[in-house]
Amino acid sequence: MLPVDFIESMHQQLGSEAEQLFRALEKEPVTSIRLNDKIDSLTFDCDFSEVPWHFDGYYLDGRPQFTLDPLFHAGCYYVQEASSMFLQQILEQYVPQDSIVLDLCAAPGGKSTLISQYLGGEGLLVSNEVVRQRVFILSENIQKWGNGNTVVTHNKPDIFGDKCRNLFDCVLVDAPCSGEGMFRKDAGAVAEWSRKNVQMCAERQRSILMDVWDALKPGGVMIYSTCTFNTQENEENAQWLTECLGADVLTVDTEPDWGITEGFPGYHFYPHKTRGEGLYICAFRKHEEPFAPFRIKETRQKTGKTEYDTELRGWLKEPDLWAVRQSDRFMTAMSARHKALIDTLSSFLTCISIGFGLGEVRGKGVAPQHSLSMAKAMKKEAFQSLELPLEQALAYLRSEALPPVEGKPFANMLVTYEGVPLGFVKNVGNRLNNLYPNEWRIRKL
Ligand code: SAM
Repeated sequence: MLPVDFIESMHQQLGSEAEQLFRALEKEPVTSIRLNDKIDSLTFDCDFSEVPWHFDGYYLDGRPQFTLDPLFHAGCYYVQEASSMFLQQILEQYVPQDSIVLDLCAAPGGKSTLISQYLGGEGLLVSNEVVRQRVFILSENIQKWGNGNTVVTHNKPDIFGDKCRNLFDCVLVDAPCSGEGMFRKDAGAVAEWSRKNVQMCAERQRSILMDVWDALKPGGVMIYSTCTFNTQENEENAQWLTECLGADVLTVDTEPDWGITEGFPGYHFYPHKTRGEGLYICAFRKHEEPFAPFRIKETRQKTGKTEYDTELRGWLKEPDLWAVRQSDRFMTAMSARHKALIDTLSSFLTCISIGFGLGEVRGKGVAPQHSLSMAKAMKKEAFQSLELPLEQALAYLRSEALPPVEGKPFANMLVTYEGVPLGFVKNVGNRLNNLYPNEWRIRKL
């Protein structure tokens, strides 16, 4: 049951069209996925069709049990609400691929994985989540996506405004909101909705925008989005941003048959007009003005050669693209081109993960870290591979032991499903030790 005050406010906002919205909110949510470019194609046991505003986005006519698909756990696709994929259009139209981007409210990582794929090997993404319980799933999703171009941080918004002045070419604020656009997916959002909560969300959104504003370079692009319909959290905040913070609204090219509704300003995705959940998104360009660029500091972070350098580099397709940092037993690979910036940022931000874990000192040698197996940069041929059938792949992902194999060396081996890496095992002769991260294992099927 929709809240009475919500019905009244949508009538005010949409007039007679509101009834169509209410009917759409009674229907089943739409299932959609976005493909990772680590694979070429994917098959599901249901019909599918293309999401018109993202070339890697697909609507599925059913909702497969994703937990039972090893490729889901290997990061081959992200189950993402279709409207959110519109972010791609804004990036393509206004954000160069070599940009330094901040995704301020990033968990669980739908938009961050999209940005990470868009930036590829050129740009750098700082993907931040302030809520502690949510930052680990963000880091897991980023590692599974596997681009290695992302630093996952756990900080409050104001540290970016204070310490990263004029650093970012683009900042995305996908703000916590009253969630009207999620009503058909999330009964909790309906239960929590009230006019007072809308007001509280609108104020919190302004405070987040204000806190992070100085981190955006003059001339840079701010993208503000919510998954709610009301104008208080959307248009009114967008207007406030242009008037009080100093930015111009950017128009985004769209096609009429996408069913997107233009706001004043911004773009609304209403489920009675667009195939997807509710979304509001608006892009701005911060006014140009002379500014002191962010200064990358000389730090004494240890990067460069480690004792195991030759071996570690042999695990990478293009070793020169990666700088290796050793901290305690762990070796991390990060984009060589952004190493100095990453070193500076990690001196004051709480970093949960950087690039991808490459290796870990174990006894007298070095063992590959799980995150390497997810990375697109890994040279698969550096490891002996063992292709698993479905049941064994799921057993592996549940952290169960696998039967021993014959004729393979006693060493770390890569296990794959349909040719896609799932992780590592160690062949110790009479068994294969399962090296899948315990905290990521499938708990129930
Ligand atoms: N961008 C994410 C995605 O695409 O998967 C979804 C983000 S969700 C709409 C908003 C996020 O903001 C949540 O992860 C929430 O924990 C976080 N958040 C909550 N309060 C916040 C605050 N005061 N400042 C910044 N982020 C906050």
